[in-house]
Amino acid sequence: MTDPKNSKKLLILDDEEEIAKILGEIAEDCGFKASLTHTAPDFLDRVDPSFDCVILDLMIPGMDGVDVIRSLSEKEVHPDVILISGADRRTLHSAETLAGEYGLHIAAVMEKPIRVSDIRNILSAISEKERDSSSRSKDGGKSSLPVFQKEEVLDAVRSDQFILFYQPKFDLKTGKVEGFEALVRWNHPKLGLIFPDSFLPLMEKETAILNLMTEKIIDLALDEKRIWNANGKKLRVAVNVSPVTLTELDFPERILAKIKNKGIPQSQFQMEITETNFLENIRFTQDILTRLRIRGIGLSIDDFGTGYSSLKQLHRFPFTELKIDKSFVMDSPRDRESLFICQASIDLGHKLGMHVVAEGIETEEVERLMKEAGCDVGQGYYYSRPIHPEKIPEILSKFG
Ligand code: C2E
Ligand code: CA
Ligand code: CA
Repeated sequence: MTDPKNSKKLLILDDEEEIAKILGEIAEDCGFKASLTHTAPDFLDRVDPSFDCVILDLMIPGMDGVDVIRSLSEKEVHPDVILISGADRRTLHSAETLAGEYGLHIAAVMEKPIRVSDIRNILSAISEKERDSSSRSKDGGKSSLPVFQKEEVLDAVRSDQFILFYQPKFDLKTGKVEGFEALVRWNHPKLGLIFPDSFLPLMEKETAILNLMTEKIIDLALDEKRIWNANGKKLRVAVNVSPVTLTELDFPERILAKIKNKGIPQSQFQMEITETNFLENIRFTQDILTRLRIRGIGLSIDDFGTGYSSLKQLHRFPFTELKIDKSFVMDSPRDRESLFICQASIDLGHKLGMHVVAEGIETEEVERLMKEAGCDVGQGYYYSRPIHPEKIPEILSKFG
């Protein structure tokens, strides 16, 4: 087993001494050096940056688990956290979400009584994990996003520094590619590829820049799509459009003219709409979306189940596709409630005559769950990350 000098350190907080002891023994077996404590103040006193992992019982007398989570987040420590509790699943889930909000890294959440095999699997995985913390910030450390000025972003849009990557969408019944979603990237001359979360929030405030970028990337997507069409493929392309841009009443005419000019059938063009802000002029948005739909453009409600992407919007606008937010999809194997939400969204989408897409499929297991739930389309790292357009033929020859 592990060399004791390299053992990872674990601190266990459980007021039930017997349980703490058993957990400690399992952990030592998995290569940890385990310490036990039975009260929250003692735990908070002892926890320090040398601990790689902590097991926290949420129900301890005197101080509740939420207090411990908050206090832990205020310390300069970054252990993997395993939450355990006798509380019901939904309470435990809420505690988990809260812990995530407070910036803790939750490795697992377990209901009591705990199965020895479950805790052993988790502890072994943590014990064998590399000591670096890269897995903590999957998205490349979003906490240190670069900050840009409005002028440089506008210049970059004008000089065509924004490019598109494409992520395939798969028909879950046939396993074939049914279309590609275009995702914008800033190809910065000095900094390299920059992801949308670094510039979209600024653009959404500076609507003129966002409008200009949207028009440009729609042109780009239509041009790039023409290249695959030339190879005999009739795949759809979907672009993401912020509702902030859906306020100019001539938007549908402009888009339709572009599509017609490029000789692309309307049915092969789709728009994915995510609502991040409260819509001020909902009537205009409704007017625009309805006209786009009448002309045969596909409309997708993105991130369904979060923020303003709600039942109300689903009812109000003529969407043809529902994309379940990836947070529910990704959690579905280990969180029953997330799976129920996926299932309910799929059934609801179907009742409303829509296609349903599960995004964020990262594993075979999640693919299976979504197939079993009757989902139509899948998308995610399991199949492919967003790719440079040059790689599209490769994907098509693999998944045709
Ligand atoms: P979105 O439309 O929900 O796109 C999905 C995001 O999840 C993409 O991030 C994609 O790279 C990522 N993703 C895809 N599969 C997986 C997976 O299996 N696991 C995980 N963890 N992530 C996955 P990206 O490209 O950074 O885009 C972020 C958001 O920026 C998009 O979310 C979309 O709302 C917005 N966006 C992207 N391009 C445009 C655009 O051209 N215009 C506008 N207005 N918004 C855009
Ligand atoms: Ca999208
Ligand atoms: Ca989404």
